Amino acid sequence: MRAYLVGGGLAVTLAAFLVTAQTPQNRPVELHTLHVQGNVYMITGDGGNVTVQTGSDGILLVDSGLAANADLLIAEVRKLSKGPIRYLINTHVHPDHVGGNEKIFAAGSTITGGNVTGDIGDAGVGTTIIAHEAVLNRMSAPTGTQSPFPQRAWPNDTYFTKEKKLFFNGEAIEIVHIPAAHTDGDSLVFFRRSDVISAGDLYVTTSYPIIDLSRGGNIQGILDAMNRMIDICEPADKQEGGTYVISGHGRVADQADLVEYRDMITIIRDRIADGVKKGLTLEQVKAAKPTLDYDAVYSKPGAFWTADQFIDAVYKSLSAKK
Ligand SMILES: [Zn+2]
Ligand SMILES: [Zn+2]
Repeated sequence: MRAYLVGGGLAVTLAAFLVTAQTPQNRPVELHTLHVQGNVYMITGDGGNVTVQTGSDGILLVDSGLAANADLLIAEVRKLSKGPIRYLINTHVHPDHVGGNEKIFAAGSTITGGNVTGDIGDAGVGTTIIAHEAVLNRMSAPTGTQSPFPQRAWPNDTYFTKEKKLFFNGEAIEIVHIPAAHTDGDSLVFFRRSDVISAGDLYVTTSYPIIDLSRGGNIQGILDAMNRMIDICEPADKQEGGTYVISGHGRVADQADLVEYRDMITIIRDRIADGVKKGLTLEQVKAAKPTLDYDAVYSKPGAFWTADQFIDAVYKSLSAKK
């Protein structure tokens, strides 16, 4: 996996952990499928959560999980539908979300004559892989020499606008770019008729927000993403249910969950901003324990993204603005 781990510092540690530490050698990997709502399903297991939308036009995936689990993922998708795999949308560049790209590309078939662009070799062969152009830039040749992913794994239908829309399986699908949040190439995907958002790592339920500073992440972008999703969500009766949100890691959430998480992030951001304004060093801010009242829920012992790393990333996000 070393070839994937380009970039610096924290991101390398993070990516390495996501690839290796979540797949212990001593137990078989199992993937599980959950029907979320409408035409949309979530496949969980090692790596990031995968979203599947099925219908008469075929299959659309959001993210492709770890490379090591790609065959298992395709088998799990095949239990839902025997139809053609047409689209794969990548929410961002991390290997626990794009690892299965190459095999998903090979398993799919592009709709020719549609919105197909890019060099995909034989027309009509291969899944259309959609992502923000920042994802392609990082997957193709970020080091300027050897690209960290094979060409067949690269997005072949990138967008650089604020959003991209698609109509597939009888519903409109909105792909929204959130600049500088978890990374610089994050997309959230909204299935309008099924009423489900696939958030990628813009939203995780298992830890504090993960901010990959070395790949263009920033705390403010995370808050922007939370506010955008809260805005899209429409709760059902008694403020529960309604629009569902598939997290990048963890469980399915609703608007009330997002609001609680957004408020928690805002409180911690403000505490750290206060320290930055007073001229405190990172160590002094950490010593003041700005996350203490939330650590029992969001900073589990041995977790790959701890309160310490979160405070570090928020402090650096806020300091960099000056
Ligand atoms: Zn992830
Ligand atoms: Zn990620």
